[in-house]
Amino acid sequence: NESRKRGITPCAYSKPMRDALLRRADLERSMEGALAQGEFFHLVQPKYDVAGTCVLGGEALVRWRRPDEGIVGPDEFIPLFEQNGFILRLDEFVFESVCRDLRARLDAGLPVVPISVNVSRLHLHRPDFLPTYVRIKDEYGIPDGLCELELTESIVIEDLHGVFGIMEGMRRAGFRCAIDDFGSGQSSLNVLKDLPADVLKLDREFLLESSLPGTEETVVRFVITMARELRMETVMEGVETPKQLAFLRTTECDMVQGFVFSRPVPPEEFYRLLETGAPDEGAFRD
Ligand code: C2E
Ligand code: MG
Ligand code: MG
Ligand code: MG
Repeated sequence: NESRKRGITPCAYSKPMRDALLRRADLERSMEGALAQGEFFHLVQPKYDVAGTCVLGGEALVRWRRPDEGIVGPDEFIPLFEQNGFILRLDEFVFESVCRDLRARLDAGLPVVPISVNVSRLHLHRPDFLPTYVRIKDEYGIPDGLCELELTESIVIEDLHGVFGIMEGMRRAGFRCAIDDFGSGQSSLNVLKDLPADVLKLDREFLLESSLPGTEETVVRFVITMARELRMETVMEGVETPKQLAFLRTTECDMVQGFVFSRPVPPEEFYRLLETGAPDEGAFRD
């Protein structure tokens, strides 16, 4: 009001814009310290066979525990960290945490399964990306095939041949390679046949009702069959209901990752599920 009287524009931004900028500044100011203080950690979401009887793998998903705020999910900070480059260090941190857990399991002679981590697009064209991941994997002495790197479909589509080369490099270096969120973007089925991937993760959008009843099931079944022909394992993401699960049991889908079996859980809980096998048949865990 004072400023208005003096003829100064009080604020160039609307309130929501201002709040978003302040939030961004706050997250950016505190991210370095947060990493040093151990505020970032990962959960692991199990991937089950369709019967829900065994855990065949897991995906590491990052979280930020902020002292005055509680737990913040990746949707709030990953886009920002992709803009400012901090995602490079955060992804490495998550990967190293996963390797540390795997090493502890191997040392104790306990069962392990492949664990995937998400790799931001920012890594891909950096010459030190693969050497860094290989160094961490070797430092912890992780056998080939236990670490899986997830690249989202959109990264692959942006630069097909460049990314194919990088994926082949990852596989030669002993990583499994997964395509995340397949079907969420612009990929054509034509791309599928050339993908040098071990695993195809079908985006949860596939399960959402389409305007033509029954169509989504036809498409999911087709993609799963085609992936299998091409020697890729399939993971259906975001499976929430017993009805969706019942449908997937009529397909050759290899793995189901979704709330119908388990939410992302702390690593100790993940490894407990791995050892004890199943959540209750068809039960919702919350
Ligand atoms: P994403 O890699 O596709 O991971 C799957 C997301 O779906 C996770 O969200 C998971 O909690 C959620 N989800 C699993 N089952 C269900 C379900 O049944 N229903 C619904 N509605 N959602 C389900 P989250 O943990 O919030 O992660 C969101 C995204 O953030 C991830 O999508 C990934 O793109 C990114 N992200 C997470 N952790 C990392 C990381 O360490 N590095 C990078 N670069 N990105 C990460
Ligand atoms: Mg993922
Ligand atoms: Mg995904
Ligand atoms: Mg997704």
